[in-house]
Amino acid sequence: MRIRNFDRYYDPPEPPDFCEVCCGNSDTCICPECPICETYGDPICYTEHGLKRSIIQIVRHDNFHVLNQLTLKKEEEFFSQFPEEL
Ligand SMILES: [Zn+2]
Ligand SMILES: [Zn+2]
Repeated sequence: MRIRNFDRYYDPPEPPDFCEVCCGNSDTCICPECPICETYGDPICYTEHGLKRSIIQIVRHDNFHVLNQLTLKKEEEFFSQFPEEL
């Protein structure tokens, strides 16, 4: 007797909905892909794989709770204080 067990393989793994590097979720994460492990937003990649945080990643991370209170418009104003090279 054959066991039809294929369906379970079609369940995509749940992506974590919170990025520890930039504090985004799957829609708003701005982290670049790691060339070594091909994932995004893994803090290990920044300590072990040579990725560098951009200013905006740092700003978003450090101001996560503040940014949560802001509207999108205010958020744009907030980010406009920082240098353009993002
Ligand atoms: Zn991220
Ligand atoms: Zn990596």
